[in-house]
Amino acid sequence: MMIEEKSLNFLEEIIEEDLKSGKYTSIHTRFPPEPNGYLHIGHAKSICLNFGLADKYGGKTNLRFDDTNPVTEETEYVDSIKADLHWLGFDWEEERYASDYFSQLYDFAVRLIKKGLAYVDDSSADEIAANKGTPTEAGTESPCRNRSVEENLSLFAEMRAGKFQDGEKVLRAKIDLTSPNMHMRDPIMYRIRHAHHHRTGDEWCIYPMYDFAHGQSDSIETITHSICTLEFEVHRPLYNWYIEQLDIFPSHQYEFARLNMTYTVMSKRKLLQLVNENFVDGWDDPRMPTLSGMRRRGYRPVAIRNFCDRIGVQRRENIIDVGLLEFCVREDLNQIALRRMAVLDPIKLVVTNYPEDKIEIVAGENNPEAPGQGGFREIPFSRELWIEAEDYMEVAAKKWFRLAPGNKVRLKNAYIVECTGSKKDASGKVTEVHCTYIEGTRSGQDNSGLSVKGTIHWISVAHAIPAEVRLYDRLFQVENPSIEEGDFKEYINPDSLQILHNAWVEPSLQTALPEDHYQFIRKGYFSLDAYKSADGKLVFNRTVTLKDAWAKEAKKK
Ligand code: ATP
Ligand code: MG
Repeated sequence: MMIEEKSLNFLEEIIEEDLKSGKYTSIHTRFPPEPNGYLHIGHAKSICLNFGLADKYGGKTNLRFDDTNPVTEETEYVDSIKADLHWLGFDWEEERYASDYFSQLYDFAVRLIKKGLAYVDDSSADEIAANKGTPTEAGTESPCRNRSVEENLSLFAEMRAGKFQDGEKVLRAKIDLTSPNMHMRDPIMYRIRHAHHHRTGDEWCIYPMYDFAHGQSDSIETITHSICTLEFEVHRPLYNWYIEQLDIFPSHQYEFARLNMTYTVMSKRKLLQLVNENFVDGWDDPRMPTLSGMRRRGYRPVAIRNFCDRIGVQRRENIIDVGLLEFCVREDLNQIALRRMAVLDPIKLVVTNYPEDKIEIVAGENNPEAPGQGGFREIPFSRELWIEAEDYMEVAAKKWFRLAPGNKVRLKNAYIVECTGSKKDASGKVTEVHCTYIEGTRSGQDNSGLSVKGTIHWISVAHAIPAEVRLYDRLFQVENPSIEEGDFKEYINPDSLQILHNAWVEPSLQTALPEDHYQFIRKGYFSLDAYKSADGKLVFNRTVTLKDAWAKEAKKK
């Protein structure tokens, strides 16, 4: 796996240059989400970048809700964004809303009208689009383009006062209809939208376009480095034009490549479809690339921050292997996850020579990766145990070191047992596996000199707690569903969620909390879901698989 060298990235170079030359004395960044969805891992990259830069250079970062579109925005999203930011480990300087600036933006627009740099256009959206020309062909002037300043002022005031219907008029900047940059061909500044806004209510019926709100909001907040994704590069001349014509604080825009990740989609519009059309169980479904989904799945914020740090900042579009994110998650959890035993697909193992009423308490190490820190937990051992059905073979294959008649294995933290056979039902299906334990082989007290190649996990039947276990796979079957033909939803993996209804977990998990992290030995990393199952059981989500950790551990023994 590639790990970036820790040289300065291009944004750090720019900032260091700006501070050295005295262009700015301190730096100020912002994270500007539109509250029309939940934050995803792509946003995390932008957050780590904006907050990280300010932190590194002693600057500040604002959280600014870019809430200029009344139709798609909701307070639920605002709340979730703040919660996710805090969870990720960041705190903003100020909480701002582009909608706080509506009257200031209105005044800015009036200023441009007075300078002869903006006009009210009666053209319809279709007419405006048709008259924009093509990159190689100049646009055509609207008959309204040369209205007098007075007429524009009064029409704009009437737009604001609600005299017109949606779409009847727009305010446009008067720039250059021959510009090779289509964004400079008299872009729309304001449109009429008789819609309720989540913060300003019905106060406004005209709303500024992104380009007219974003740079001006940056400037109002004295943002020095306004960092956005590459698709806004072509908007930069317009960003600069507004700031220059208004003669306001000179914020500067810089672009970096957005994060794309394999086997998922990242656009909020698409994620919203997955939610609304019930392909997933809400924005926080553990398969979603959202921060809330990752939290529910058991990712820790430090793993996400490490991931963002590892991928660095690029100036060219690329797609990152989701395996790198999983690697970061595993690397983190390996250090801190408590080791526990859970049997996902149970079959009964009877230790026939163990007394029926006897219970021994054996010790299980909480985390061998953090010796001395985690200590041990108590695990009851008895005559009847649950083991994984897949750990028994009626006829041992070659190199089969688990249970099969005649084979010896160690029961993790307990005894070495020898398999003696099984019990079957009328159809020949194995219903119970039988074994005998070998005295003197208990872990920690073993003086038998015996050594076995296989170790399996188990749970005492009398003490086991029933649980539902959910195993997740990639949400999509193809690396990049967004570039495939047809609808992206055709590529959804039908097996992305596997629910195991009859799992058993060891008794210490009775008190598990959703923020705890476990390694179910040999099975992966898990954490408790925030909600119980329909039949009232604890639900555990698999955060990420183990990979080869167990194979290595087995070898060591
Ligand atoms: P989407 O396409 O997912 O709706 P967006 O860019 O419209 O994303 P915003 O809420 O406007 O979402 O984004 C807030 C900030 O996060 C912006 O600065 C945006 O550039 C950045 N951002 C969004 N998606 C990504 C991504 N995939 N990688 C990096 N930064 C991103
Ligand atoms: Mg956006």
